[in-house]
Amino acid sequence: MQAKIEGFVPSLQTRFEGCRFAPRCDRAMTICHQQPPAWHVAGRRQVLCHLYTRGEDVTRLNEPPTVSVPVGSVAQTEAEPEPLLQVDALQVHFPIEAGVFKRTVGHVRAVDGVDMTVQNGRTLALVGESGCGKTTVGKSILQLIRPTGGSVRFDGAELTRLSHSELRQRRSDFQIIFQDPYSSMNPRMLIGDIIAEGMKVQSAGDTPDKRRKRVERHLQQVGLSADSVARYPHEFSGGQRQRISIARALAVEPKLIICDEPTSALDVSVQAQILNLLQELQKEIGISYLFITHNMSVVSYIADEIAIMYLGRIVECGTVRDVLRSPQHPYTQALLSAVPTLDPASKREVIRLPGDIPSPSNPPAGCYFHPRCPQSMDICRRRYPRRSPVNGQHYVDCHLYTSDEPNPSGIER
Ligand code: SF4
Repeated sequence: MQAKIEGFVPSLQTRFEGCRFAPRCDRAMTICHQQPPAWHVAGRRQVLCHLYTRGEDVTRLNEPPTVSVPVGSVAQTEAEPEPLLQVDALQVHFPIEAGVFKRTVGHVRAVDGVDMTVQNGRTLALVGESGCGKTTVGKSILQLIRPTGGSVRFDGAELTRLSHSELRQRRSDFQIIFQDPYSSMNPRMLIGDIIAEGMKVQSAGDTPDKRRKRVERHLQQVGLSADSVARYPHEFSGGQRQRISIARALAVEPKLIICDEPTSALDVSVQAQILNLLQELQKEIGISYLFITHNMSVVSYIADEIAIMYLGRIVECGTVRDVLRSPQHPYTQALLSAVPTLDPASKREVIRLPGDIPSPSNPPAGCYFHPRCPQSMDICRRRYPRRSPVNGQHYVDCHLYTSDEPNPSGIER
């Protein structure tokens, strides 16, 4: 379990007797609640904590912080479960219209042939730079944006062929959590009503009393008190609002939650609380997640499988263990090399990619990554690479690994 700081950031109106961090500190002593600490100076560093003024070994201040940075610590699951979601050749192309008559003069290929699988009770992380099409994939799976082509099979049903009324009946099976929960909540509604909203639509037969009890249970499940039902969204912190949006998603008992950057607006300690909560819920109720993120540290903690996306296509996929320990695609290698580390002994070289991600309205010929790839070859400019297996669970789309092409990089498979 990822280290987390218990409790919540106190209200700005709180009057403190002792150390402001004492209510959340797992090493707090009696004095911490009674008296504010004084600065303790150790060389060029200073710390405001009673531990050090009362004899704690000050050399600890010079130890590097024990922060887990991604590669190497990986989520593990043993059993091979059934697919819940199977996406094949998914395409979402938006027309570009011009002129008085709004003629279509081109298409933005936001998603351009994505394949992925989410297993029952597991987490797939979808990773890539901003603008690569991750969020559009999430919305098109939920049919919030209708795909241009391809297949989305969810729990035995082909979602792309369902009518609006058929989709409405299945909406409770798949939910979405956004980066900014506040924007998805009506500020004039009470929290109890916000959570009960989806339940009313999906389970019209429930009595108000039963519904209220369920809302309270879901609030407690996400670590909030039952009396939160009578409060408004602005009365909660960012992390608490994200908990409320998780409770709202859970209220309709979904099988899959698409988490679209749910922790990227939160500070690190609150981020850990939300990630731990999502993991605990998965263990408890067997829910599956498609976790959209650009943060590799989060991926290594929460996900079982990973798919790396570049300009509307998946370029590498596999188990988190395989992909993070042995990235094969030059883009994945560059992404991982850029993950910050606090270890001063780390000599990892950062691979700097030239230029920006190209426009999806005019993707490059051949491999979409070739204008930025440090290992680009002639064939990369002419032909898109086919998918090659690295092992039974790890795949990469790159000419470096296709058997009919030379491998000038010398990278071991
Ligand atoms: Fe680089 Fe060529 Fe591989 Fe594309 S196919 S990632 S350009 S080596």
